[in-house]
This record gives sequence, structure tokens and C-alpha cells, in this order.
Amino acid sequence: FKDRKIAIIGSGLIGQSWAMIFASVGYKVTIYDILQPQIDNALKQAEAQLKSLSEKGLLRGKLSADQQFSCISGCTDIKETVKGAFFLQECIPENLEIKKSLYKQLDEIVDDNIIISSSTSTFMPSQFSSDMKHRSQVLVSHPVNPPYYVPLVEIVPSEHTKTEFPIATRALMSEVGQKPVVLTREIEGFALNRIQYAILNECWHLIADGILSVKDIDSVMSDGLGMRYAFLGPMETTHLNAEGFLSYCERYSKTINGVSQTFKPVPKMEGPVMEKVAKELEEMCPLEDLEKRRKWRDNCLTLLSQMKKDL
Ligand code: NAD
Repeated sequence: FKDRKIAIIGSGLIGQSWAMIFASVGYKVTIYDILQPQIDNALKQAEAQLKSLSEKGLLRGKLSADQQFSCISGCTDIKETVKGAFFLQECIPENLEIKKSLYKQLDEIVDDNIIISSSTSTFMPSQFSSDMKHRSQVLVSHPVNPPYYVPLVEIVPSEHTKTEFPIATRALMSEVGQKPVVLTREIEGFALNRIQYAILNECWHLIADGILSVKDIDSVMSDGLGMRYAFLGPMETTHLNAEGFLSYCERYSKTINGVSQTFKPVPKMEGPVMEKVAKELEEMCPLEDLEKRRKWRDNCLTLLSQMKKDL
């Protein structure tokens, strides 16, 4: 067990996951929410999930499920929640006005040492921290859903963030078993979504131009590129696909550039193509089956992350 305390603000899906991740190595975690039932539910869910992970032999860390759960508590007072914490992970809804108003409130109650880390997927840290007295303590730690099984965390400082805070955050994330990457500066979409959007845009064009069906496009990723990418990134993939990267460039850079010249401008995801994609996706997975399919996905990711650890 550790003496140090971590505050979680917002106890929805992501707040619950962070609580379990930080408790896995024995941090004292206090979760806060504006709605008491959300806190009660987060505690109930965390207890049930830790128990079930333990039964399946998938629990993180060396502490038992009961010991890990004993590290997590709820609190309905935000001041009490942040008091004495060295790290705060904000997990409230993705709405800039709501975030700004919380950060204003935090600005009045935090000390000068706590790292204030946001889970936001889309907002750059300067967008909600610029007006704060404590803006040098704010950064983004963007997780990937579901964070307990997909370890990447993108750490994004603003231009005001003290240089030691991304470094300390990276160390904390590694300690709890996540895989942090630190961006040198903020950029729209960070890295993961920039890459994801580039893929989505090209998929859109291939569908819109009638070249592949939705199902077959997904197969290109899940049965092809994605199988490699679960183990190697695109850069190391190139390195292995030739006699090193220089040889890859010598062999393929002209072709890559030529094909890339045929890419179309950034599409807008709307209109008849949007309707067609929705129809095909709903044939593959009806809306009433989404929850079942999400459970299946989480199970696959659990097995994959277990396998990656064992490799
Ligand atoms: P959620 O809607 O499940 O939970 C948000 C919680 O915040 C709710 O319990 C709500 O009651 C609470 N809340 C609202 N206002 C609050 C306030 N002022 N103070 C304290 N609590 C407040 O949302 P989520 O899916 O857990 O997402 C949280 C954050 O994580 C968002 O910024 C989101 O972009 C980011 N994120 C989500 C995912 C994902 O896939 N869900 C992935 C990565 C990052």
C-alpha cells in the first residue's frame, strides 16, 4: 500500500477505470462526482469488476481484489477530495463549458503541487486552463477505452505546463502499468485521433467510391493491418518489411508518394454515404446488440493484453 493519495473527479466509465488502475498498486484513491448515485455505482462496479478479474486471474498488481478495493473511497465534497492528493485525474463529460467551470472551481481549492490531469479526448489543455492561476499544473492524460485493457495514455502539456509535470505523470502511468507517450506540445486530436481520423477518412472514400463494402473495409484492418499493429507500430513494420528503414524508403517511398497523391480531400461524414455506412453497420451489429458486442470486444482485448504480457 502507498500513503499517497489520488483524486478522481467524475465517476463515470472512465473515472471508474482510473480508480481501479491507480488502486492496483495501492494508491489511496478518492472518487468524487456531483451525483451521489454515480459514486455509489462506481464503487459497486469497481468492487464487482475487481472480484471478477481476480476470479479470471486477470487482476493487475500484487494486491488482492479486496485489498485493491479497500484503497478506493467515495466523497461528495470536492475540497475534501483534492485535499492532500498529489495527482488529480478529471473525468467529467466532454463539454468545454462544464470542464471550464470545474477548472475554475479547482483553481480556488488546489495547492501549488498537485498535478491536474484531464482525461479529455478532444480538448487541448490550453482550452480549459489558460485563465487559471494554477495553469502550470494542468495537462491532459488521454486514455483509450477501455483503459484497464488498452494501456496507451497520451500525455499532453500546454505551453504553460511546468516541464517536470509531464515527466512525473509519465512515471506514475508506467508505475501503474499503462503505456504513456508524451507529446512535446499540444496539437488538435493529439496523436491517436489524428491517426484514427486519417484511417477513417480513407475508409470513407473507399466506401463512397464503391471500392469495398463496410464489412470488407473493416476486414482490411482487423484481419490485416490491425494484426500487425497490435504488436508493431507502422514505423517498425516498415523497418522489418525491408532490410531496415533506409532500404524500405529506397524500395517504396516513390510508390507511397505516388499512391498518396491520389488521396482525396478530407470528406465530411454526412449525407447518403453516411446512411449507407450506418445501414451496413447495423446489419453487422444491430443497435440492440451493441452492449453484447462491446462485452465481446472487451473480452478480446483482455485476452490480447494478457497475451502481450506473456510474450
Ligand atoms: P461519463 O458521462 O460516463 O461520466 C462523467 C461523470 O462526470 C458522470 O458521472 C457525471 O455525473 C460526472 N460529472 C458531471 N459534471 C461533474 C462535475 N462538475 N464534477 C464532478 N463530476 C461531474 O463520461 P466518461 O465516458 O467517463 O468520460 C469522461 C471523460 O473521459 C471525458 O472527457 C471523455 O472525453 C474522456 N474519455 C472518454 C473515453 C470513452 O470512451 N468513454 C475515452 C477516453 C477519454
